[in-house]
Amino acid sequence: MPEYAFFHGQFMPLSEAKIGIMTHALHYGTGCFEGIRGHWDSERESFCLFRVQDHYKRMLEGCRILKMNLPYSLDDLCRLTGELLEKSGYRESVYIRPLAYKSSDVLAIRLHDVEDDFLIAVTTFPPYLDVEKGVRCCTSSWRRVDDTVVPPRGKICGIYVGSALAKTEAQENGFDEAIVLTNDGHVCEGSAENIFLALQGKLVTPPSSESILMGITRDSVIKLAKNELGLDTIERQVDRSELYVAEECFFTGTAANVAPILEIDRRPVGNGQIGETTARLQKLYAEVMLGRNPEYSDWYYLVSPATPMQSGQKRVT
Ligand code: PMP
Repeated sequence: MPEYAFFHGQFMPLSEAKIGIMTHALHYGTGCFEGIRGHWDSERESFCLFRVQDHYKRMLEGCRILKMNLPYSLDDLCRLTGELLEKSGYRESVYIRPLAYKSSDVLAIRLHDVEDDFLIAVTTFPPYLDVEKGVRCCTSSWRRVDDTVVPPRGKICGIYVGSALAKTEAQENGFDEAIVLTNDGHVCEGSAENIFLALQGKLVTPPSSESILMGITRDSVIKLAKNELGLDTIERQVDRSELYVAEECFFTGTAANVAPILEIDRRPVGNGQIGETTARLQKLYAEVMLGRNPEYSDWYYLVSPATPMQSGQKRVT
């Protein structure tokens, strides 16, 4: 069964969805993308897309920043994603990658008078960080872009050069992930995750004014902490040295889920073990993200492929 993509306004086998070498976005990073989880629920024979509307809202904001006009409404985008999943051969959890990009074959460094296009690809996605074991981090020598450079509230393709520099530096130095600081030296986020600290019994995370991407997992965790644990999250500027005195620390992200941070700059976080609040939030988030908590059904978008599974196809949960 071939894997499908949505490309040039139609569904086609993934192997046929190719772009030309002069595509604007390839040269100048002029696109914005999303990463959405689709969980395959073998009992219900359906995919549960987590907060898909919120992901597309954020992508459409990125399109406004980049002066892109897609011919699709929010509802269209969700529907197309569902149709793509129905057509795809997957019957296991997937990672969905929509991308809106400047598509003209033109060498011109500008946003105006360049055509736009939109695609969706689906793939499987191995665990991004070891959420069971926890991660070891360093603060990066690379700083996050700020709103005066390239607006970080958009998931803009070109911004990810900075993330890649930080991630590679961290991994080549023997760490799992980087913590990136803002241009003026405050804690911003991971290379592709938001960051939370537990400090004196309170949850603390940098606010939108600190050049973070306004993460959907971040928002989910703030709401779960409040509703389920009665814990408020304080959104405020965070000093680097607060990382060294926090009782607990964790990343949040679509790829990373809730990932405990056990060490920062060769100092143990708290007692160096997964903290109690982190563990409770990990469990709550995992349940919600898999579509298993009816209290949060507003966050779920269910897609039930009509095509029965072919014989010999493996059922994976
Ligand atoms: N920051 C950056 C730079 C990211 O790329 C991501 C991943 N999208 C996040 C934070 C986390 O955002 P979300 O929870 O919406 O995946």
